[in-house]
Amino acid sequence: MAEESLAPYAVRASLRGRRINESAPTGRSEFQRDRDRIIHSAAFRRLEYKTQVFVNHEGDLFRTRLTHSIEVAQIGRSIARRLGLNEDLVEAISLAHDLGHTPFGHAGQEALNECMKEHGGFEHNLQSLRVVDVLEEKYAAFDGLNLCFETREGILKHCSPSNAAELGEVGERFLNDLRPSLEAQLANLADEIAYNNHDVDDGLRSGLLTLDQLSSVRLFSEHLNEVRKAFPNLAERRVVHETVRRMINALVTDLIEQTEANIKRNSPKSLEDVRAAPPLVAFSPEMYEKNRELKSVLRTQLYRHYRVMRMSAKARRIISDLFRAFMDDSRLLPPQFIPQSEQSKSRLISDYIAGMTDRYAIREHRRIFAVEEI
Ligand code: MG
Repeated sequence: MAEESLAPYAVRASLRGRRINESAPTGRSEFQRDRDRIIHSAAFRRLEYKTQVFVNHEGDLFRTRLTHSIEVAQIGRSIARRLGLNEDLVEAISLAHDLGHTPFGHAGQEALNECMKEHGGFEHNLQSLRVVDVLEEKYAAFDGLNLCFETREGILKHCSPSNAAELGEVGERFLNDLRPSLEAQLANLADEIAYNNHDVDDGLRSGLLTLDQLSSVRLFSEHLNEVRKAFPNLAERRVVHETVRRMINALVTDLIEQTEANIKRNSPKSLEDVRAAPPLVAFSPEMYEKNRELKSVLRTQLYRHYRVMRMSAKARRIISDLFRAFMDDSRLLPPQFIPQSEQSKSRLISDYIAGMTDRYAIREHRRIFAVEEI
C-alpha cells in the first residue's frame, strides 16, 4: 500500500522492528514479509484441518480455521483500505490470529486449559504468539518467525496482567492501559464479523440451525425479508447467501461509519494518540446490540446444539486422555517433544497437543489407547 494513502494515525512502518535484527526486505514491505512468513509456516497449513465449529470430517463445505482466517483477512483488508489503515499489517494479523488454536475449536481449548490448570494454564491467544515467537522451527538465525512488534502486538488480543508482565514489550500495553494500533483493533472486529456470519451460513447448511430460529434476530430477518421481497422465487441456498452477504455489508458499513466518527471526535494525530485514546474501531450502539442478539442465538441454538455438544464431549475426552497419558509417561512422546526437565514437561506436552489437527489428535488417541493399533 502506498505510504501517501495511509492516514497519519495508521501504522506506517514498523517502529519497534523485529526481536532479531534483519536487513530490510526488498520489493515488499516489512508487514508483507510478515504475512509471507505466516503463510509459509507449518502452523498455517495445519489450520486447514482444525475445527471452527464443525469438525473437519463432518463435511467438506464447512469453514475450517484456515478458510475462517482468510475471510477475516478479506474483511479486514477491505475496511483498512477505506479507513486509510495499513492493509498489509491487518492482513498479517488476521492470517496469524488463530495459529495457536487447539484441535476441536473451543472445546479443545477449554480441555487443554483445564489440563494445564496447575501449570500456568492454556490460552489460544497467547499460544498464537508462542507459535510465531518460539515454536516454528524454520529459520537458521532464530526460532519462530521473528515478526515485527506491530504484528505480534495485534496477535495478542488480550492477556492477564501476570502473563503481560512476563511477555516484555508486547505485554506492556496491558499493564499501562494503552490500546493497540487501529490495525490490531480492526483485525479483532473483522474476526467477529467473519465468524458470526459464516456460522449462520454453516449452521443453516448443516441443518442444526433453521431460518425459523433466526427470525427473532433483527440483523438476519431484516435482510432476509429484503431478499425475499426482491427475489420471491429464489432457491433457499441463494436466499441464505444473499442474506449473509447483506449482513456482512451492513456490519462493515456500520463499522466504517462509526470508526470514522470516533476518529473525528478524538482526532488522533499519530499512532501514539491512538494508543492513549479509548478503542476507536467499533460498531454503533445499535449495531452492537443487533450483533449481540445474533451471537446469543448462535450460542443457544448452534454452539449448544446436542450434536455439537456430543462432538465437544468427545474432543474434551481425547485431549485430556492424551495429556494424562503423556504426563504419566513422557517416553510415549515423539523424540522432539521429550522434555529435558520435569519443569518443562507440561508446557511441551501442551505445545504438542495444541499443534495437532483434529484428525491427527483422533489418530494419536487411537495409537495410544487402542490395543489393536501399533
Ligand atoms: Mg478467529
